[in-house]
Amino acid sequence: MREMRASGVDVISFATGEPDFDTPAGICAVGKRSIDEGLTRYTPSAGLLDLRKAIVEKLQRENDLTYDENEIIVTCGAKLAIYDALQVIVNEGDEVIIPAPYWVSYPEQVKLADGIPIIVSTTANTSFKVTPQMLEEHITDKTKAIILNYPCNPTGSTYTREELSKLGEYLVEKGIAIISDEIYEKLVFGDVVHTSIVAACPEVRSHTILINGVSKGYAMTGWRMGYAAGPRDIISKMTAFVGQQIYGIPAFVQKACIEALTNSGEDVAMMMGEFETRCKSMVEVLSTIPGLEFCIPDGTFYIFPNVSSYFGKKFKERTIDNSTDLAEYLLKEARVATMSGDAFGGPGHLRLSYVISKEGIEEGIRRLKRALEKLK
Ligand code: PLP
Repeated sequence: MREMRASGVDVISFATGEPDFDTPAGICAVGKRSIDEGLTRYTPSAGLLDLRKAIVEKLQRENDLTYDENEIIVTCGAKLAIYDALQVIVNEGDEVIIPAPYWVSYPEQVKLADGIPIIVSTTANTSFKVTPQMLEEHITDKTKAIILNYPCNPTGSTYTREELSKLGEYLVEKGIAIISDEIYEKLVFGDVVHTSIVAACPEVRSHTILINGVSKGYAMTGWRMGYAAGPRDIISKMTAFVGQQIYGIPAFVQKACIEALTNSGEDVAMMMGEFETRCKSMVEVLSTIPGLEFCIPDGTFYIFPNVSSYFGKKFKERTIDNSTDLAEYLLKEARVATMSGDAFGGPGHLRLSYVISKEGIEEGIRRLKRALEKLK
């Protein structure tokens, strides 16, 4: 897609995984001022105390969770927080359950920790969610952890408090650690409320590493700040690990993140409201395409339609056999970029993101529809 765009082809992208908004000005101002104030030196591996305090307050205020500063580590994005957590808790040969569809990095990060990813597939029948019954046959004496992601990239589904409570009780009973990736927590629509599994089932607290950050909810993907909250012994092992890996992330980034977590409510509400409006537009236009089935997202900025009714069809001499073929065809024929569900452990689907304008969504789906109509 990048090459096509660079050579002047007008491609509409439903493939992007980050907000299209600029970081709110107030947050940028604090970052700039902090550089001017000389905050450009090494920082502690666990993160600045001020930022960890701001995270503790955020978790109390927004998630009804009580942590102290020594139970928090700040890292280079939620991505590294998950990586570091896996490095610390997984030993060679340990199994880590990953419900599918999943974010592409999970299986690779488990392998980098010498663990074995155990993929548990879900379907639209359970809104792409796992239940204790579904996990039962995958649990062995090697099962160490499960990675839960809600709201979920790529499906847009999230769990209710009751579902998390049941799941939590079951995982405690089985002694399975939880990596709870809540990076899309701000992105929930309508009546949907984000609840952390630690709030829904307090018994999991000593088994859970909660992951969050500022990338998605505050339009700060390039600032690279994520964090983990968890039991003190795990956080201190992660801190020792990070000490050999990166030290702390830049001080001026951390100062800007304090501003984000404490003073950007209005900006966040504006951006999240816009994503909700775009989600409605996406659902509306996508519903006009025959043969596509999808769950209405609870949140995120993704929708995950099942496109398998187009498999086996042809355009000219080319047969579409799977989602990857279809994504390639749509890019070439319709100049619309999408992500194949194959990479997310969701064959038969495409992931479409709606981080473009309403007009862009409408034009992109018009193109997509015309290209699908040409398949016979
Ligand atoms: N978790 C999920 C589910 C994601 O989709 C992403 C980014 O796409 C991340 C974590 C990483 O976030 P960060 O930018 O904070 O590293």
